[in-house]
Amino acid sequence: MFIGHYGVSFATKATQKRVPLWLLFLAVQWLDIVWSGLVMLGIEKLRIVPGFTASNPMDLYYMPYTHGLPGALALAAGFGAIGALFYRDRRSAIFAVLAGAVFSHWLLDLLVHVEDLPLWGDSFKVGFGLWRNLWISFPLEIATLVAGAVIYARAIPSGNPNGNVWLWGFVAALIAVQTVGTFAMAPTSPEGEARMALLFYLLLAGLAAIVDWAHTRTRATRSDFRLHPAG
Ligand SMILES: [Zn+2]
Repeated sequence: MFIGHYGVSFATKATQKRVPLWLLFLAVQWLDIVWSGLVMLGIEKLRIVPGFTASNPMDLYYMPYTHGLPGALALAAGFGAIGALFYRDRRSAIFAVLAGAVFSHWLLDLLVHVEDLPLWGDSFKVGFGLWRNLWISFPLEIATLVAGAVIYARAIPSGNPNGNVWLWGFVAALIAVQTVGTFAMAPTSPEGEARMALLFYLLLAGLAAIVDWAHTRTRATRSDFRLHPAG
C-alpha cells in the first residue's frame, strides 16, 4: 500500500491535533522509509518480477527487519518514544498515537501484500494478497486516503477561504501519484525503486506540512476589512 497509509495520518491528526501532520506522514511510512535505506545498503532485498501481482512487480522476498512483526513493533515503539521526547506533557498519549500510526503501516500492508510479511525471523510469512486484484486494491487505497481526509476536514475546519482548496488539491495530487505509479511507471531496479520511494516519502511529508499550514492558517477576510477599514 502507498497513499492509503496517509488516510491514517489524516485521521490521526483529527484525534491528536498537537502532533503535526508531516510527522504523521513520516510515521505511517516509517517502516518503508527504513526499508528504503536497508534495500540501498543491500540488507533487505526485493526483485523486480514483471506481473508478480496485478498491482506491482515487486517480489519482496527478504525484509525481516522492517516488515517482520517483531521488527515492525520495535520500529513503532522507537518512533513513538523519540517523538514523545519532544513534548512536555501527556507523553504517553503522544507515544501511543505515533507508535500506532507507525504500526498501522504493517496492518494495511497485511491486507494487500502477498505472503511476504514474516511473523518471526524470515519465516511464517503472511499477507492477504489483495494486490493480486487491482480492481480491489486500487479503489481500497483511494478510499482509505479519502476517508481519512474527510475525518481531518470535519475535525479541523479550514481557517481561510482557500483552506479546503489546498487540502483537496493535495488529496487529488496523492491520487495522481498513485495512479501514475500503478499504471504508467515500472520500477527499473530494486535500488532505483527504494531511492524513488524514499524521495516520495520525504517530499510528501514536506508537502503535508505546507498543506496543513495553508489549510488552518487564519487570514483576514473581506468582512474583517469592512469592520476595520484601513486608513
Ligand atoms: Zn511497507
